[in-house]
Amino acid sequence: MIIEPKIRGFICTTAHPQGCAEHVREQIAFVRAKRPIQGVKNALVIGSSTGYGLASRITAAFGANAGTIGVCFEKPASGNRTASAGWYNTAAFEIAAKEHGVMARTINGDAFSDAVKKETIAAIREECGQVDLVIYSLASPRRVHPRTGETFSSVLKPVGRSFTSKTVNVQSGVVTEVTLDPASQDDIRNTVAVMGGEDWNLWIEALDQAGVLAQGAITTAYSYVGPELTYAIYREGTIGRAKDDLEDTALTLDARLELSGGRAFVSVNKAVVTQSSSAIPVVPLYISLLFRVMKERGLHEGCIEQMYRLFAERVYSDGPVSVDERGRVRMDDWEMRSDVQAVVDELWQRAQTGSLTDIADLGGYREDFLKLFGFGFPDVDYDADTSPDVPIPSVAPIEEGV
Ligand code: NAD
Repeated sequence: MIIEPKIRGFICTTAHPQGCAEHVREQIAFVRAKRPIQGVKNALVIGSSTGYGLASRITAAFGANAGTIGVCFEKPASGNRTASAGWYNTAAFEIAAKEHGVMARTINGDAFSDAVKKETIAAIREECGQVDLVIYSLASPRRVHPRTGETFSSVLKPVGRSFTSKTVNVQSGVVTEVTLDPASQDDIRNTVAVMGGEDWNLWIEALDQAGVLAQGAITTAYSYVGPELTYAIYREGTIGRAKDDLEDTALTLDARLELSGGRAFVSVNKAVVTQSSSAIPVVPLYISLLFRVMKERGLHEGCIEQMYRLFAERVYSDGPVSVDERGRVRMDDWEMRSDVQAVVDELWQRAQTGSLTDIADLGGYREDFLKLFGFGFPDVDYDADTSPDVPIPSVAPIEEGV
């Protein structure tokens, strides 16, 4: 079939297998051109197929020659539907990892479930015995609680008051005003249940009890802070409550892992274009202004640049991991620089439909968005008849998508 992008709102419902493979190769090439990282033998990446998790897996495998076990929740192709981008990314990653001579195994299923935790532990035992790095990079709209069976759906809402702000339709470039109603107590509870720290804690507990966490193991999860412009919808909104919970969990886990010489911390990453960040109201306008300012200053980074810097310069560099007053690694240091934020603030005041071409990097945003789904790569022939059926080598073919 001929696979073209089909964009519906903030999601693209198709993905291109060769394009996704190209996206993975691009990230691998970036890491391989850098100084190798010492210190990771085997990593477990939960949320390994797109965005920050995929970049973490690539950095571990190709920057540190680590074996990786990935957990993700992706769909294979079926009928005339393509597979999801994360499916194609994972297939391409595994093939490249094999060529590179490092172990790679993927578990495709619901990471929140006990069954997937069990399956992952069995895979670790089989492949490498223990893992010394656990990356927790899930971004999900819902979670079924493994003990109670309750389904929680996360929402992106302000807390305490409604919030009115500019926002952009990235595809059309039209700036409008959006008003978001405040969250209910249930909305907050649900969002914390999905995106907070409980599941991360359950993972570490399960891995530790099963004896598959190596002595001195490190675990990290990802968070975001951002500027005041987005506080109401992000840091002080429902998702911010979940991130507070995740960050508190890091402190508890750190105390636990320190006993065996390990560490747990949250890394506050910069804003990038991913499937998850595209879904947040207001944030894409901020990102397109931020990209413009950071690119002009030579400070621009995507997922792979951030994750390589996290591994090479923060976690596996000489000396202790440097953290802020709340125990967090700050990979958003360049984004939050006062000179960067001052310009973004000023551009924000001027942002309207007609001015965006001059003051924002909407083109860069759209390009990154299409790349998430494997579109826009010059070496891919998008007019060629392409089979959407691509297996992930380590995922059994009978796997019925999920
Ligand atoms: P993403 O949407 O690109 O990736 C999410 C991953 O989670 C995918 O691999 C997906 O398969 C997996 N996943 C989702 N539900 C799952 C489930 N039930 N079981 C197994 N796997 C599941 O998201 P992202 O933007 O890379 O976000 C990852 C983390 O980084 C999140 O904690 C996010 O808050 C944080 N973060 C993102 C940004 C940003 O700008 N995107 C900035 C800072 C921090």
